[in-house]
Amino acid sequence: MSELVDIIAEKFNTTTPQIQCLDHGFVRLIDMMPRLVPKGQTADFRACQAARVSYGNGTKTLNEDTSLLRYLMRHRHTTPLEKIRFEFHVKLPLFVCQQWLRHRTGTFNQLSLRYSESKNEFYIPDKGNLRTQSEKNKQCSEGVVSGHEVDFIHEHLEISCDQTYDQYMQFLDLGLCREQARMILPANLYTEFYWTTDLHNLLHFLALRCDNHAQKEIQDYGNAILTLIKEVVPVSIQAWEDYHPMRGGMLLTKDEVDAFKRYIEDKKTGEYEACFTEKIPEINTATKREVNEWQDKARRFGFN
Ligand SMILES: Cc1cc2nc3c(=O)[nH]c(=O)nc-3n(C[C@H](O)[C@H](O)[C@H](O)COP(=O)(O)OP(=O)(O)OC[C@H]3O[C@@H](n4cnc5c(N)ncnc54)[C@H](O)[C@@H]3O)c2cc1C
Repeated sequence: MSELVDIIAEKFNTTTPQIQCLDHGFVRLIDMMPRLVPKGQTADFRACQAARVSYGNGTKTLNEDTSLLRYLMRHRHTTPLEKIRFEFHVKLPLFVCQQWLRHRTGTFNQLSLRYSESKNEFYIPDKGNLRTQSEKNKQCSEGVVSGHEVDFIHEHLEISCDQTYDQYMQFLDLGLCREQARMILPANLYTEFYWTTDLHNLLHFLALRCDNHAQKEIQDYGNAILTLIKEVVPVSIQAWEDYHPMRGGMLLTKDEVDAFKRYIEDKKTGEYEACFTEKIPEINTATKREVNEWQDKARRFGFN
């Protein structure tokens, strides 16, 4: 049997690598399965091993493993990816936690403010990260607040957190139970949880939460996780970056494929010469949002 190494310790020189997020938060990789891997390999090997069990084939070369993993990712044969599991310790503001908890495919154990008193730790964004409301997307922010307003907002955020925390402690002193005193605490209070998930579901989480439609604060956590797992499952991550439609890949609708076909037909018949302005071929769909999405995709092909 080949020598086994602790993949986390080997890649990070520590057994619990951690990346700082926001002002007081972090993501820490505390465990994974497989953790002991054959020397010279990464944890990707477990997904290949699982995929091969169906036809009884043993270990293959690293090149064969890479192409098998890329095949699995391209064709959405996802159960072998579920054989790789991760455990993270995360410290994050409550409003980010609320978004995270919507992901039902992992398991959570969260700090309880019924058992213990809250700490005086609140997320206060840097002055350069106080963002303005997006006009294009009702959910998103874009740009930053400028001028004197920045100092005002920043200062009042700090004051209001301090005052609220004092009030919380006063409630406890007055005999109110912890489970009710916490009602007053704001959404930027830090909490912590342990999160267990597998590679397939983690990649789903990362596709949604590293995307620029997600709130910037949760994007920071998603990107921290990506930085950590890239070291231990690099082949899977590269395949995901290359093929996933929310990463390097692209999903075309029937309408969009038809628009391309018409464009190429025109090109073949020579009409292309007359009509070609490098403008984005039109799609027939009625919704403005779908047209905008198509235009974003077409620009990636070099259309204007
Ligand atoms: C940018 C963004 C904006 C959002 N805005 C809002 C919002 O305004 N309001 C709001 O309420 N939510 C919002 N959400 C949350 C969103 O609707 C999902 O709840 C969240 O992203 C979790 O996604 P999921 O269900 O795919 O993930 P998971 O719960 O991790 O599930 C992964 C996959 O497993 C399958 N699955 C899991 N459980 C079930 C089940 N019970 N039945 C069938 N299939 C299941 C599904 O295929 C699912 O995609 C937003 C999310 C994002 C990323």
